[in-house]
Amino acid sequence: MTAKTLPGQPHIAYRGNELFIENVRLADLARQHGTPLFVYSKAAMLAALGAYQRGFAGRKAQICYAMKANSSLAILQLFARAGCGFDIVSGGELERVLAAGGDASKIIFSGVGKTRTEMRRALDAGIGCFNVESEAEIDVLNEVALAAGQRAPVSIRVNPNVDAKTHPYISTGLKGNKFGIAHERALTTYRHAAALPGLKVVGIDCHIGSQITQESPYLDAMDRVLDLVQAIEATGIPLHHIDFGGGLGIDYNGDTPPAADALWAKLLAKLDARGYGQRQLMIEPGRSLVGNAGVCLTEVLYLKPGEQKNFCIVDAAMNDLPRPAMYEAYHQIVPLTPRQGANTNWDIVGPVCESGDWLGRDRMLNVQTGDQLAVLSAGAYCMSMASNYNTRGRAAEILVDGIQSHLIREREYASDQMRGEKLI
Ligand SMILES: *Cc1c(COP(=O)(O)O)cnc(C)c1O
Repeated sequence: MTAKTLPGQPHIAYRGNELFIENVRLADLARQHGTPLFVYSKAAMLAALGAYQRGFAGRKAQICYAMKANSSLAILQLFARAGCGFDIVSGGELERVLAAGGDASKIIFSGVGKTRTEMRRALDAGIGCFNVESEAEIDVLNEVALAAGQRAPVSIRVNPNVDAKTHPYISTGLKGNKFGIAHERALTTYRHAAALPGLKVVGIDCHIGSQITQESPYLDAMDRVLDLVQAIEATGIPLHHIDFGGGLGIDYNGDTPPAADALWAKLLAKLDARGYGQRQLMIEPGRSLVGNAGVCLTEVLYLKPGEQKNFCIVDAAMNDLPRPAMYEAYHQIVPLTPRQGANTNWDIVGPVCESGDWLGRDRMLNVQTGDQLAVLSAGAYCMSMASNYNTRGRAAEILVDGIQSHLIREREYASDQMRGEKLI
């Protein structure tokens, strides 16, 4: 039997005329569990992590999975068991890591709007580092730590003002973004933080954006951050670790991001050349660990050919897969069992009452009502962004491991959604 893998998806392949993830036929999962259904490959996630681990072999490096990409408990458990720490952005994410058996000391807490309650809970849990994003937040964290009789470990997120050359909504390292502290203010801010009794300065961090497909923004950001490290340490404030954030892109549609190990070979060469190669390093990859490990299965409900457009209406929608509506993102869409014969140009759309509810435009497919499709590259920023808009229950999730499949999240029903609501 011929196996034909899809571009960018080494763990998803046609065997004969049927689409498999690892050794499981996707049509079988759709039949057993219904659609829409997210299906993830454990091997794909571990392979993606392995590329980073190879890249950092022999170095002091902690990989902190940026869990907002996909925060399902079983996926956190998988990464925790593989040695990862976690980059969190809310108190809710902290509770998820702890529930999944993650190590609190390997948690770093990012985000521009941490509340006092979230800070206190993270301090009590004993997280590894607060990545602080503003001068106002530094003072609040100091107060919260003093009130708790603790010293909060902090790193300051600096904004290196480099263009990540990605979509404006996911670019975070430019001056006009809400994230981080301006490069020019960094030294002053470090002096201020180092003088506060409730804080212990432990590092520096940056994160310049997401779906970055070129290496030059990383190299530029590293130079800018190392310049700051030098200046900060020259004033007598030692930095235990340097955190370069996440952001590495994946292949959605012929994108050609560097491989994690190849990228880090170049970055480590620069670190070595500047004398920081033996420093404790941290990174915060999200999308690149999970994005191409997942698909969303959906069924064709209706075909609606028209004068200007042909619509293929499926049972997954923008509440399941928000990226096309949010940033006109592209996901490949392929049939689970391709049909012979001529293709037609379809817009693949969901049932939600919004014109923005489309999953793919102008796709050449031969489909009929009842056919099943796979939306590819759906492992990152899909389920974790899913909503209940139109009172649609969120999809179920399956984790495949070789020939086995595990239901890791049950489908959500209307009764789940109405829990906690009250009539007057
Ligand atoms: C979202 C985020 C990441 C992960 O970004 P990816 O593009 O998914 O790798 C890392 N660090 C911070 C602070 C983030 O907000």
